[in-house]
Amino acid sequence: LDVIRSVEPRVADAIASELTDQRESLKLIASENYASPAVLLAMGNWFSDKYAEGTIGRRFYAGCQNVDTVESVAAEHAKALFGAPHAYVQPHSGIDANLVAYWAILGDRVEKPMLKKFEKRQINDLTDAEWAEMRAAFGNQRLMGMSLDAGGHLTHGFRPNISGKMFDQRSYGVDPATGQIDYDGLRESAKEFKPAVIVGGYSAYPRKVNFRIMREIADEVGATFMVDMAHFAGLVAGKVFTGDFDPIPHAHIVTTTTHKSLRGPRGGMVLCQPELAEQVDRGCPMVLGGPLAHVMGAKAVALAEARRPEFADYAQRIVANSQALAEGLIKRGATVVSGGTDNHLVLIDVDKYGITGRQAEQALLDSGVVTNRNSIPNDPNGAWYTSGIRVGTPALTTRGLGTAEMDQIADLMHTVLSQTTSDAGSKAKFHLDPAVSDRVSKQATELLAPFP
Ligand code: PLP
Repeated sequence: LDVIRSVEPRVADAIASELTDQRESLKLIASENYASPAVLLAMGNWFSDKYAEGTIGRRFYAGCQNVDTVESVAAEHAKALFGAPHAYVQPHSGIDANLVAYWAILGDRVEKPMLKKFEKRQINDLTDAEWAEMRAAFGNQRLMGMSLDAGGHLTHGFRPNISGKMFDQRSYGVDPATGQIDYDGLRESAKEFKPAVIVGGYSAYPRKVNFRIMREIADEVGATFMVDMAHFAGLVAGKVFTGDFDPIPHAHIVTTTTHKSLRGPRGGMVLCQPELAEQVDRGCPMVLGGPLAHVMGAKAVALAEARRPEFADYAQRIVANSQALAEGLIKRGATVVSGGTDNHLVLIDVDKYGITGRQAEQALLDSGVVTNRNSIPNDPNGAWYTSGIRVGTPALTTRGLGTAEMDQIADLMHTVLSQTTSDAGSKAKFHLDPAVSDRVSKQATELLAPFP
C-alpha cells in the first residue's frame, strides 16, 4: 500500500477502507465471495503488461509462451473440474462470456451454413448483397430466457441489454403458486415461438433447475441450449448439483463467471461441446480484444483450488447455510420466495414488512448487513425499487460461518426489517431507530470476530 500511496494516496486509502468494510460487515451479496490470497496474488503481476490476442499457440503477438502456459493450465483445470469437452477461459466477465456464446451459436447456426451457400467463401470476401443477406439472417433469430423478475439475468434477452437487441426475445417465468419454473408453460411457449436459443440459468432464482427437461424442450423445437451457470458454478464444481441439475452434460454450451460461488478472480469462461469449440475460440477477435493474462493465471489457481476435496465440502456448506438462513427467516415470520432454497441464495419478499427492496437494502446496510434489492416474481415495485432482498451465503461460508451463525443473522435481519417503516408516499425514504441499526451493526461485527 505504501507504494500505491506514494503515487495516489486516495486509492491506497480506498483499498484499505474496502478491506475494513469487507471484514466488518456481513457480506450477504449472493454474487460475491472472498478469493484466496493465491488467487489475488496471481492477478497482481507482470502478466498484466502482456498482449496475447489469439488462442493458445496461435497468437497475433510474439513472446506469448508464458501466456500460453497459464491459459492452457486454466483450460485444463476447467475441463477436468466440470467434465467439459472444451473450455475457453479468455472472457473478461460474465457478460463477455455470454456474448462469446451467443456469437458462437450464431456462427454455427447462421454464418456457417450461409458461407457454405455462398460457395465456401470467407466472410471478408462476401459481396455487399451477400453480406446484407447474412446480416439480415443474424438479425432474424429468436431467444428465450428467464424473465428478469423471475430471476433471469439482463444478458438473457432483457431489452436494454445487447442480447435483447440482437435477438427477438420471449421470456419464460415461474408458476405463481410454487415460485418454481413452469416447465410445461416453457415447452408450450417454445413450441409456439420457435427460438434458436433457449437460455437456462439465473441470478436470483432460489431453486435447482432441471436441465435435462430444458434440453428435451430445446431438442423438440430445434434450439441450441445454453446455460449461464454464473451464480451456481461453485455448486456444480462441488458436485452439489448432479444428474439432471448439472448443466454440463445437458447443454450445448455453458457460460459462467469465475468470481461468484466458484471463488476465483473477476472473469468469465465458456465450456462447450466439441462441435461448438472452433466457434467459441473465435471469441477474440469476435467480441474480445487481448486476453487478461494475469486474470487467466488467477482463474487457473482458483480452478486448481476448486478441484481439491475441501471445495466439495465448501459447496455443501454453502447450501446448508442458505437453507438455515431461509429457515431462520421463515420461523421469525418472513416470506421467502418459493418457500425456501435449494442453492446458495434466498429471496425475501419485503413487501410483507410494508417496505420496498430499496428501503430494506439501505436499512440493512445502515445496520452492517450488506445485501442487494432484487425484483421478485410479478414485482409491483419494478426493477428499481423492487419488493425483494436477495441474500447469498458463498462469502460468509468462505469465512467459516455455519448454520448456527445463519440463525443469528436471520434474527438480526428480521429485527431490522420488522422495525423499518416506510415514510408516507415514498419508496426510498424510511425510518429506522438509529439505536437499532447501531446495535445490530455491533452484533454483526461481534458475530464475525471469530472468523477473521
Ligand atoms: N450471468 C449471470 C447469471 C449473472 O448473475 C451475472 C452477474 O451478475 C452475469 C452473467 C454477468 O457477470 P459480469 O458482471 O461478470 O459481467
